Amino acid sequence: MTEVLTGTVHIAGFEVQFAERIRQRCAWCGEILLDQELALVAIHVDPDDFNSNMTFSVWPAGKQVLHDGNYWSLLEDLPADLPGIINVDPRSCTRIPPELTIETKGKTDQ
Ligand SMILES: [Zn+2]
Repeated sequence: MTEVLTGTVHIAGFEVQFAERIRQRCAWCGEILLDQELALVAIHVDPDDFNSNMTFSVWPAGKQVLHDGNYWSLLEDLPADLPGIINVDPRSCTRIPPELTIETKGKTDQ
């Protein structure tokens, strides 16, 4: 039986927290991977102390994240033939031509 691969695999970038909002995008194509109000996703570092700092869960930067409809999953990095290099998932956004994935407004051809 052949496995059907659906969805798109993104590369998690670093999260950005501004005011009471947190956002994390794909480092490669810019797709939004997480966009939340901190009040909805943050928890106290010490759950017994409501004065303790808040923390939140994000995708690990540099790791592959599968997005398929309402399904999100962290993918394991599978080694390729070269040491230190991982296999690129066939659904990876890195395989999509840049002109289809990134904002080009304001840029000029050189
Ligand atoms: Zn992407």
